Amino acid sequence: MFTIANKSRIQPKLTIGQPNDRYEQEADQVADQVMKMSTSQIPSLQLKCAKCEEEELQMKPLSKTIEPIIQKQEEEPITRQGNRDANQQMALSQLCNRTFTTSEEAQRQSIYEGFIRGLTGVNSSVERVIKISMCRFSLRQLSKMSRAGLRIWTHGSVPSVFEGVVQINSRGGSASYVRGIRTIFLRETINTAWLTHEMAHAWDHIRIIPRRNLVRLENLNSRRRRRLILNPGNYLSETSRRQNIDRIGARRPTRMTFDRMFQNYRRRVPRRELAFSQGSRTGYSMTSSQEFYAEGYTVFQGSFIGQQAKLYNYAIELYNFLNNEANREQMPTPNLNAVIQEARQLPRARPI
Ligand SMILES: [Zn+2]
Repeated sequence: MFTIANKSRIQPKLTIGQPNDRYEQEADQVADQVMKMSTSQIPSLQLKCAKCEEEELQMKPLSKTIEPIIQKQEEEPITRQGNRDANQQMALSQLCNRTFTTSEEAQRQSIYEGFIRGLTGVNSSVERVIKISMCRFSLRQLSKMSRAGLRIWTHGSVPSVFEGVVQINSRGGSASYVRGIRTIFLRETINTAWLTHEMAHAWDHIRIIPRRNLVRLENLNSRRRRRLILNPGNYLSETSRRQNIDRIGARRPTRMTFDRMFQNYRRRVPRRELAFSQGSRTGYSMTSSQEFYAEGYTVFQGSFIGQQAKLYNYAIELYNFLNNEANREQMPTPNLNAVIQEARQLPRARPI
């Protein structure tokens, strides 16, 4: 839980969706923007992820340094570590298994350094997890996030620029994106899937803001900074904006809101275990439109074809949206034939 320390009266902004919508109300519950006045008249920002709270139960006590246990279920094979000089940069194209130009390699490295600015205790495992998660985003996406000032931090403190403005007064989850301060908080246990999920939230948050309007919070004067912290704006996935969805093979694009995609998905999934999921968080993609998007992004850019098949089978609109987005960003996409093949093995979607 994060608290805005502010003696003046702040109007909490509750802007997520229609109050009568059941799913949107669920979204309200997990959104970091939800503020409530505490007894001491201090509004608090709740952490982004409900799952984080679930996971919290399994978490070890809070630690000030990052000592991640790289999860066994991590998608990426742990690459051989032996022959790397500790002072040498980890080659990004190697971690991403893609070829980057020298210029892109350098830009990604400098974005990485920006993401961890001020953070101490980053060992090579943490570096690897962050860099591999960054592989799931294009240079354009990353540089937009960088321009917006995205940073990665650890639970237990806040970046110095937010000290006295925002403070942690309760524990969060394994990883969470706090949109008010555009910060992803990590705990000691992280993996690339979780971090990709949080970065997808960060992308969802800033993607529709024109590049020229993006500015790091630390570059604003304290009044404007505070205003932005308290009014961080919506995730695209929770707006009522219609998205262009090219149905694969269809001639005309469909326009649909994320909420509609999400509701269709909830109706189609025959059983909760069949919800697409990046790991052990069964059903988490069914909790809100933002989690639907972030989880979908992670699955789509991940390497579990079984999950991609669920995404395809029960959330075709999101699959198509992500496919278009990946094409636009010149990012890799899953092998569609293999995904369709796999989807045939799944129980049929319920009619909507
Ligand atoms: Zn989330």
